[in-house]
Amino acid sequence: MEAGMLTEGLPPSCFEAPPFWKSGLAECHEFVTGLPGVEVEEIGRSAGGRPILAASFGRREALRRSSTSMSSSFGGWGSKAWNPDTFYPPSFFGESPRERPVLVLQGNIHGSEIAGTVAAMNLLNLLVHGTDLRGRRHDRLLEEARKMRVIVIPHANPDGRARWEPAKHLLTASETQGHRVTFGLREDGTTPAWLETKNSFPMPRGRVLGSYFNDAGVNLQHDRFLDAGRAPETDALLSFYLREMPDAVVAAHTDQGTLISEAPSYIPVELQTLCARIGGAVAGEVRRRRLPLFVYPHANRPGAGTRAFTQLDAIYHQCGALPLLVEFPSSIAEHLLTFDQVLDVGLAVFEALLVFGNDIGFRPGVRKHLNDGRVVRAYGPLPPPAAKETRGLREE
Ligand SMILES: [Zn+2]
Repeated sequence: MEAGMLTEGLPPSCFEAPPFWKSGLAECHEFVTGLPGVEVEEIGRSAGGRPILAASFGRREALRRSSTSMSSSFGGWGSKAWNPDTFYPPSFFGESPRERPVLVLQGNIHGSEIAGTVAAMNLLNLLVHGTDLRGRRHDRLLEEARKMRVIVIPHANPDGRARWEPAKHLLTASETQGHRVTFGLREDGTTPAWLETKNSFPMPRGRVLGSYFNDAGVNLQHDRFLDAGRAPETDALLSFYLREMPDAVVAAHTDQGTLISEAPSYIPVELQTLCARIGGAVAGEVRRRRLPLFVYPHANRPGAGTRAFTQLDAIYHQCGALPLLVEFPSSIAEHLLTFDQVLDVGLAVFEALLVFGNDIGFRPGVRKHLNDGRVVRAYGPLPPPAAKETRGLREE
């Protein structure tokens, strides 16, 4: 059986995990369905026919709008689109602002990358029961999360996750074993290298497909987003985002833990800048807690030099959301992280992200914070100072 071929040779420890480590398909689905106040919806099916679920917490606010094409609405906005004060044509973004930001946590688009899903399951538990799944409180994170509508998609690529079940994690696997689960086996029994897999689209089945791909061999990060023949997962996710109109979408991946990744190449420069600012806030919070943080030399410019239109660019052009690629920490035997460390990093990322979203905003150019505590539009003339302060300053 295919699943057995991918997990062959993994240490027995990879098949066991503490109860707070929820990452399996049935396990996550059962868990979110059992959370009171969380609405669970099937938003589509994978190439292999597996359901893709979205679990939402927080009231849904409808937008009054006349267009479902951002491109068309920017067209209709005419010369106003050049004014930074009018970056959001209301025909697409809605005529009045919502009370709460909407944040999507999209997990597991690459089947072996599950740390973001584990952290998101713990965040949902915190929202519903007041503690993470270890019973620990995170009061600031909870307070910030309650100010938003939070939507979790546990498995964007359920085919990939299914292919290495019933294993629960790869924390204690060697790098070679992890690569085998992720990239699969060619006919000759060898595992292709990471970048090599990207030279084939779709990936030929070989002896067994890696968990990176859906059942049709598609790497959903690099789908042909503008093609009518795009993957059903891409269809399901993008249609859902157009309906929900989130302010930000976190696309969870894993590496050794570089966290907020470089900005996508084909989004407006204002959003690229915001990605960098949020990246700094998140990295600062993680280091303040003395948790591990990685930096790769390539991760310092938009698109990391790929110049390709990826799932992140597609998300922005579909729904206007700030697309944030987060590389949560995985672990390999050669650089072992504990379950607790991986979850702690995930929750620290969420907290910094939510604080930023609620206070400064996920949409660029919207708010400015004055020294008297007032919050005003970021562009346009400053409002007159509050009367008291004015008198005090003049008397001096
Ligand atoms: Zn990935």
